[in-house]
Amino acid sequence: MKNAHWQADLQQLRHLRLFNNVAVSSLNQLLSDFRACDLDAGEVLLSPFNRNQYLYLLVKGQLAVHLGSLDSQAVSTLKIGDCAGEISFIDNEHPSAYVVASEPSCVLRLHRESLFDLFSQSPELMQNLLEMLCARVRQGNRIILDSEQTANIDALTGAHNRRWLEQMFERESTRSAFNGNPLCMLMLDVDHFKAYNDQHGHLAGDYALCLLAQTLRNQLRPKDSLIRFGGEEFVILLPEMGSDEARNIGERLRHALHQVSSFHSPIGELPGITVSIGLAQMQAQDSLQGLIARADGALYQAKQQGRDCLCG
Ligand code: GH3
Ligand code: MG
Ligand code: MG
Repeated sequence: MKNAHWQADLQQLRHLRLFNNVAVSSLNQLLSDFRACDLDAGEVLLSPFNRNQYLYLLVKGQLAVHLGSLDSQAVSTLKIGDCAGEISFIDNEHPSAYVVASEPSCVLRLHRESLFDLFSQSPELMQNLLEMLCARVRQGNRIILDSEQTANIDALTGAHNRRWLEQMFERESTRSAFNGNPLCMLMLDVDHFKAYNDQHGHLAGDYALCLLAQTLRNQLRPKDSLIRFGGEEFVILLPEMGSDEARNIGERLRHALHQVSSFHSPIGELPGITVSIGLAQMQAQDSLQGLIARADGALYQAKQQGRDCLCG
C-alpha cells in the first residue's frame, strides 16, 4: 500500500454516505488525520490474519469482499463511498473477511483513535457509521439465507433435497403429533427411465426430470414439499392430509404426467414419461426411515402391478 497523491476535495467528501450531515469543521479535522493510500489491482487491503486498527473509505476504484478464502467467489463489491474494515476497526479484532482491490484503487485510512475522538464532536458521523454497519449486517443475513436456500435445493430440477426432507419431516411430524392431523408421503419413480435415457440420450432424460418436477410443483399446495430423493425418484410430503385425500392427489399427479405425450425442450420435441407411486400415511412414533420404507414398499407394489399406477 503506497501513499497516494490525493487532493482532498471537501465537496466530493461531503456527498459520501459516511459524511452525510457532518459539519465542515469536523470534516476538516478528519481530513488532517486521514492518510490517502493507493492500492494496485489484486492488492489485499484486509485479511483475517492481520489485526486492523483503521477505517478505510474508498474514494477511487473498487474493492471485493471474500469470505473464507481469497479463492472463493466475492460475496460483495465495495464502491466509491463504501467503507472497509468497519467491523474489525470497532471491535479491535481481526477482520472477518478478505478485502482486495479488484482494480487500481485509492482509500482514505483513518486510525480508530482519531475517529473515536471525532464521534464525541459529531454524533452524525457515528450515526452514519452505524447505518453503514446495519446495512452490512443485513447483507450478511441475506447471504446466509441465500446459501441456506441453495444448500436445500437440487440444482437440476429446483426441487428440494434430502436435507430439506429431514428438516421438514422433523417439523411436520412434530406438528402432526401435537395437532393430531395426519401426514402422508408419496414416493414417485419414473417408469423405464433407463430405457428413456438409452433411447433419447441423458440430456433428454434431464429435461424429462425437469418437466416432471415442474408438473408436480404446479399441482401442490404451498405447504407441500417436493423432494428429489435420488436419481429419478421423488418424495412428496403432504401435511394435514389423510390417505384418501393423498391418494386422490397422487392419482391426479400421475394422470397429469400420463397426459403429456410429448413436450418441447431445448433439444427438440421429446416424449413424456410416466411414474409409479407409493403412498404411506404416518403412524404414531413413525421415524422418517419408517415412513420412507412403507412408501417404498407401496412403490414396489405399483411397479409389480405394471407401472403408471399408485399403490398404498
Ligand atoms: P423402473 O420402471 O423399474 O423404475 O425402471 P428404470 O429404468 O426407471 O429404473 P433403473 O433404476 O434401472 O434406472 C434408473 C435410471 O435413471 C438409470 C439412471 O441413469 C437414470 N437417472 C438417474 N438420475 C438421472 C439424472 O439425473 N438424469 C438422467 N438423465 N438420468 C438419470
Ligand atoms: Mg428408481
Ligand atoms: Mg425408475
